[in-house]
Amino acid sequence: MRHFQVPALGALHDPRLDDIGAPVEVRRHPGARRLTLRVSRTRRTVIVTLPSGCDLGEAGKFLHRNIDWVRQHLGNLPQQVPLADGILMPLRGEPHRVRFLGCSPGRVPVAVTKADEEGVSELVVCGRPEHAPRRLKDWLFAEARRDLNDRVAWHAQNLGLKAKRITVRDQTSRWGSCSTTGALSFSWRLILAPPGILDYVAAHEVAHLAEMNHGPRFWQLVEKTMPRKDEARGWLRVYGIDLHRFSLDAGSCSGADI
Ligand SMILES: [Zn+2]
Repeated sequence: MRHFQVPALGALHDPRLDDIGAPVEVRRHPGARRLTLRVSRTRRTVIVTLPSGCDLGEAGKFLHRNIDWVRQHLGNLPQQVPLADGILMPLRGEPHRVRFLGCSPGRVPVAVTKADEEGVSELVVCGRPEHAPRRLKDWLFAEARRDLNDRVAWHAQNLGLKAKRITVRDQTSRWGSCSTTGALSFSWRLILAPPGILDYVAAHEVAHLAEMNHGPRFWQLVEKTMPRKDEARGWLRVYGIDLHRFSLDAGSCSGADI
């Protein structure tokens, strides 16, 4: 379902805040009674919410007064991991070592090797090193789309429902969403999680095709095709943040709550 989101007023450019190492987003919330501050763990962004009477200057002062709190919270976030040669990343819940192999004529662009004795497989990416992060990203999106198409079709068929379109995105606020027109959207990071987690998010969004809420009828519907939904929800609460460490931007070649 769609979740209410407060539109961002814009970024805050205050030279005193240049060294905090994270973007600052300012939002105006009509219902807010006072200035509030939070650090988004999934987006690594500082978010200041303003009540109607406040201006951006007050947001800057407020942030400056609480700068130690902000630094501490940013410092506690797990390190971001860009898609790069040598990183260890999960794929369908299993550890994989990423290898950028360079140009190797005749080899498929991305391949997965068998796991070694420690259970680690290699995710081998061929081609020019500067294109490798992009190639790996495209491959991860395609794998996520393939698994999600498959699981959405299965749940939809079993519940007598039909999804209109499935999109995979780099979304950080939600694992999945369902529009009123029946279009489903998912985070690419679900391909990193164990298959049962991707399966649960697929079941959750398919159930929204019939029930655009989180009421008892919605959960009964989810349970019909996903009896172990609570296990998956628990996993996402504990380990979901870990999947957000993997970043498509920072340090790459040239550059989603339910
Ligand atoms: Zn939902």
